[in-house]
Amino acid sequence: MNLIILDRDGVINFDSDQFIKTPDEWKPIPGSLEAIARLTREGWRVVVATNQSGLARGLFEMATLNAIHTKMHKAVGQAGGRIEAVFYCPHSAEMDCGCRKPKPGLLDEIAVRYGRDLRDVPAVGDSLRDLLAAASVGARPLLVKTGKGEKTLAAGGLPENTPVFADLSEAVEFLLKA
Ligand SMILES: [Mg+2]
Ligand SMILES: [Zn+2]
Repeated sequence: MNLIILDRDGVINFDSDQFIKTPDEWKPIPGSLEAIARLTREGWRVVVATNQSGLARGLFEMATLNAIHTKMHKAVGQAGGRIEAVFYCPHSAEMDCGCRKPKPGLLDEIAVRYGRDLRDVPAVGDSLRDLLAAASVGARPLLVKTGKGEKTLAAGGLPENTPVFADLSEAVEFLLKA
């Protein structure tokens, strides 16, 4: 079973320093929906792991996060793809939870849900913490330059052998060719 883990903001949709607080603010990065659809057609199971500290900060409510994800699922579905599940951390950094990336909690949840370890499972992110979380459980980090990706690349310190792609579309192209 081919499983892939995607970060949300900056990978699937445009990121914002002001947070994505409404369904209207959720706008897909060109090519990302089609890339997920390609994965789905090739039999991959696609899940999302995302830090959503805006919840803890009171910037949006649970119901709004659900509405944002409903929009995302619908958009992906219309493109012919499927996101099976969204795993999110609702905490702020100050809460010191075990699930806010770079902590491995979200990925551990995915491992439990799918009944497998995440060794070599591709995990696509635009921030260092996505890559570190992936590396910490033996998954395979991939960096995209969308979202915070350019800054992440410039700052350095990536896990060893992290490949870098222009965007999700290019990362998926690479994975499907391998
Ligand atoms: Mg991100
Ligand atoms: Zn958390």
